[in-house]
Amino acid sequence: MKEESLKNTKTDKNPYSYNGDVVNLPPHLTAQNGDGSTSQLTDSEEEIQKKPHNKKVYIESYGCQMNFSDSEIVASILDQEGYKITENFENANLVLVNTCSIREKAEQTVRKRLELFNRLKRNNKDLKIGVLGCMAERLKHKFLEEEKMVDLVVGPDAYRDIPNLLREAEAERDAVNVILSKEETYGDIAPVRTSSNGVSGFVTITRGCDNMCTFCVVPFTRGRERSRDPKSILEEIAQMAECGYKEVTLLGQNVDSYLWYGGGLKKDFSKANPLQQKTAVNFAMLLDLVANAQPKMRIRFSTSNPQDMSLDVIRAMAKFNNICKHVHLPVQSGSNLILRKMNRQHTREQYFELINNIRKIIPRCGISHDMITGFPSETEQDHQDTLTLMEQVKYDFGFMFAYSERPGTLAAKKIKDDIPESTKKRRLQEIIDLQRIHSEYRTRQYIGKTVCILIEKSSKRSSDFWSGRTSQNTVAVFPKENYKVGDFVDVKIEKVTSATLIGNVIGISSSI
Ligand code: SAM
Repeated sequence: MKEESLKNTKTDKNPYSYNGDVVNLPPHLTAQNGDGSTSQLTDSEEEIQKKPHNKKVYIESYGCQMNFSDSEIVASILDQEGYKITENFENANLVLVNTCSIREKAEQTVRKRLELFNRLKRNNKDLKIGVLGCMAERLKHKFLEEEKMVDLVVGPDAYRDIPNLLREAEAERDAVNVILSKEETYGDIAPVRTSSNGVSGFVTITRGCDNMCTFCVVPFTRGRERSRDPKSILEEIAQMAECGYKEVTLLGQNVDSYLWYGGGLKKDFSKANPLQQKTAVNFAMLLDLVANAQPKMRIRFSTSNPQDMSLDVIRAMAKFNNICKHVHLPVQSGSNLILRKMNRQHTREQYFELINNIRKIIPRCGISHDMITGFPSETEQDHQDTLTLMEQVKYDFGFMFAYSERPGTLAAKKIKDDIPESTKKRRLQEIIDLQRIHSEYRTRQYIGKTVCILIEKSSKRSSDFWSGRTSQNTVAVFPKENYKVGDFVDVKIEKVTSATLIGNVIGISSSI
């Protein structure tokens, strides 16, 4: 199946980018090795002295931003084992592919990469290759035993076991750990920030998912939902602030469902003791804590699930200037019939009510979406319902996908994938075209206005221009002048495309 998505206004390394990209190291985190390759600098000089950093690991990450964030945890664990990050897989001692299985295409891509890495073994007999993440559980036998493409297979909750697994692999024994955990949040591990520009970084606050959307493989690959200790979240963000970061994105499959009551699965909250229940921290409270603790940092979060987004969260966004005015709110379909078959816990009407509340409380809030076309049994009327929902919301941008049946999901077990590929593709194109119109409608509202932008990097189109984002998460580009990455600047918008605002800097912003 050929699958397309519109990454409108989105670039790589973006929390809202699902197509995946290879991790690149920002200049401030890389060092030149003797052989000319670059490698990661560790935060702890003490640790460097303890273990010689004479081995190199190359990590390639695919899928959602959570996978990129997990790779930073793996980099940290390997750092303790004496591994430096390299950007060049040809001189690595260890190659790790952090995988995604959300759609079939992601799996095919990983297989091709593993074939390429295996060819390196001809000249480098000691090279070890590992598969991490969401594909690990499903493909462990195939990759390790049948096809012998990898030396180790590690699931998303077993990264602490990588040092042991490496020893197993070196002893030519099977090295697999795909056990899912009730507790693991990696809260105590300081990530080595490999996928950051040194200005905006990601902090995982929940792991796993309990939603059981029938199309989705996440609950099976990442396990049940659990939240991370707010203290460790605040500490990690404080460290980022100390290192000069200006923006943090709180990550989770369903951040609004965040609930810390001392550890353990969300579903076991009802079994917690009365004190734990009374002192539990929910997502609105966490936002309050983070926003108060770091008033000079922009705070973003992703992904929100309509059923869990509370008015308290929307009010917290309105209350704090430093919480960005953008909500990524996947809806997946505009048809109530399809929403029910997807086991989404909201109707089209409830979704509109939520959108109305967001717009009422935060009048200039950016709203984006995920949408799936061609879910089994989707009729032309269901498809029209999706188009009319989009027409009503007029999203700023969105990610749109053709349905891809995933083995093990409830839909794969119970509902026949009966929509022809040509129909899925045509419907996908129709929603992409409509989104482009809405994106342009939204970006045009900016013409003549002055907006605060955090400068993140050079524009891809021209090295004379900076690129950054508005609070609403719309990309803006403008001449560099004497400004630098990490500055908050006021930019007057002169013209727009459907994805980008183009303007000139007026000066350093007093806002963030
Ligand atoms: N947790 C979020 C939620 O449930 O809304 C996002 C989960 S997923 C990592 C990101 C997006 O991939 C989903 O919102 C959905 O649009 C898309 N997706 C997930 N499973 C899919 C499938 N089987 N076929 C096509 N798209 C899929």
